[in-house]
Amino acid sequence: MAGQTPIALLSVYDKAGLLPFAKGLDAAGIKLLGSGGTAKAIRNAGLEIGDVSDITKFPEMLGGRVKTLHPAVHGGILARNIPSDQADLEAQQIAPITVVVCNLYPFNETIARVPAPTIAEAVEEVDIGGVTLLRAAAKNHDRVIILSDPKDYDEFLAQWKAGNGQVTDDFRRRMAVKAFSQTAAYDSSISNYFRRQYSSADAIASAPAEEKADLVARAQQLTLRYGANPHQKPAQAYVTEGGLPFSVLSGSPGYINLLDALGSYALVAELSIAFQPAKAAAASFKHVSPAGAAVESQLSPLEVKVFDVDGVGELSPIATAYARARGADRMSSFGDFIALSHTCDVPTAKIISREVSDGIIAPGYEPEALEILKKKKGGKYCVLQMDTQYQPALIESRQVYGITLEQRRNDAKISKETFTNIVSKNKDLSASATTDLIVATTALKYTQSNSVCFAYNGGTIGLGAGQQSRIHCTRLAGDKADAWWLRHHPRVQTFEWRKGIKRADRANGTDVFVTGEIWEAEEGGSERKEWEALFAEGKAPAPFTKEEKADWFKEIKGKVSLASDAFFPFPDNVWRARRSGVGHFAAPGGSVMDAKIIETADEENAIYIMTDLRLFTH
Ligand code: 5GP
Repeated sequence: MAGQTPIALLSVYDKAGLLPFAKGLDAAGIKLLGSGGTAKAIRNAGLEIGDVSDITKFPEMLGGRVKTLHPAVHGGILARNIPSDQADLEAQQIAPITVVVCNLYPFNETIARVPAPTIAEAVEEVDIGGVTLLRAAAKNHDRVIILSDPKDYDEFLAQWKAGNGQVTDDFRRRMAVKAFSQTAAYDSSISNYFRRQYSSADAIASAPAEEKADLVARAQQLTLRYGANPHQKPAQAYVTEGGLPFSVLSGSPGYINLLDALGSYALVAELSIAFQPAKAAAASFKHVSPAGAAVESQLSPLEVKVFDVDGVGELSPIATAYARARGADRMSSFGDFIALSHTCDVPTAKIISREVSDGIIAPGYEPEALEILKKKKGGKYCVLQMDTQYQPALIESRQVYGITLEQRRNDAKISKETFTNIVSKNKDLSASATTDLIVATTALKYTQSNSVCFAYNGGTIGLGAGQQSRIHCTRLAGDKADAWWLRHHPRVQTFEWRKGIKRADRANGTDVFVTGEIWEAEEGGSERKEWEALFAEGKAPAPFTKEEKADWFKEIKGKVSLASDAFFPFPDNVWRARRSGVGHFAAPGGSVMDAKIIETADEENAIYIMTDLRLFTH
């Protein structure tokens, strides 16, 4: 191949910078060859250029669909500098091509047009020959230089001149990576577009009844009304392989619903099998973090009242798990997305039917339970069924401000083995505390960081999520746990509410009482008056006294468990936590204050476990 005049093949849709570049190539002694429009533009500028059809001996055909797809072109690009390839070229009288200059039909710009193009119009913008040129030249970048971006024209000319007809290996490689990235992005735009066109909810809705179930089962894509906010359109959820691992049995999930549904399902699926035998697990999600999460555990008569599930009848294991999860932070769970590890049965559906909730995801539904749920929200309640065989890919990626970030999925397994490194003097970790630590730690894995979680009796009771400082997480979790425990107080349980009061009003009225928030409101002011009106005439309760509270917290002292998604930097977290009854701590180590923190735990004979497992979630 040596000694021949180098040939550049030019085939560009975007003709920016083309003419000065062609002049530069010509001046550098490179012979030009172009596809129809590209050759014409260069020839009109007075430069000499051959037509691709001269070497293919075929005219461009099918209205431009076939221009450069020919062995005379691709043989010339793909041939290596090896004798057998060279012999092949000679036998077929094909000249090697040294430089390929190509950019693609504007598929993205076309589909973004308003009004939207027809599918037939979009189809015509799928570049075939150009992608083949890019891939072929990029594949053979050892010998061929691929220029797919007008911004690189000047650098090429400068390198060619300086290198006396050569460019650096670094340049060749950079250009090849660019071309490969462009074809990948181009193909993903195309597949995205057609996925949206052909497997959307609309297509399913308009399909004949006998095809519907099949279409739903195979759907790869779900068009969403909008993204996180109403102005964020378009929005969709999709997979590139297989079908979506869930089906929509009722309602239509939104973007945030799906974030909650998928995060919460992952949580309950993991939490369930963290135990042997597996336990039923449930979560109540709001804004991409759990408001509560729990495993099955029989409710005491007091808990039945506190979690507001009296009158439902006998509770199944999965129903107890949801009652606990929902009872963790009833204020936050208002309008939750629910995840269950096990089939949703009638008792669970009955609990849900009484609460304000946005949707549910579970591996299955008893027929009667599904009927109960489908009636919620005027028939719009979102019910998703998860495929339990689904395995998410090990590598996950997302984009932030246009940049793709990629990482291994957080597939760390949490079980009782996670809590074996007990570094405190007290090493007497009970089975129930281990359960609570598993619940708290698994909840943290699916909570926006920083996060600290308190758990008791198999459920979370206070979760501090998304705070920038750890002590603020601990305070938030501690305050929520305190409110949770005060809700169990006999005085709260014997409140005399106004007749016909709504459940949500009771939850709110209780919350401002147990947190003490209501005593900040002006006496005689509208806020205080409205609160007082929640109770029977003259029965609004007096505040807890300091002594009452202190007495009540004695009952829970040392029984609560705490997990933290990263190490505690200062002992203030331990001080704050133990005021809320924490007697078992699990957090990774690594702080310069580790020794002091353990010492602080030892002061009250608490158990401190260093997990060696950081669990940031962002
Ligand atoms: P031109 O303006 O030179 O006629 O066409 C340039 C465009 O055609 C480029 O965007 C290039 O990617 C594309 N192209 C090159 N070869 C082929 C081919 O064989 N088929 C199709 N559909 N497009 C091609």
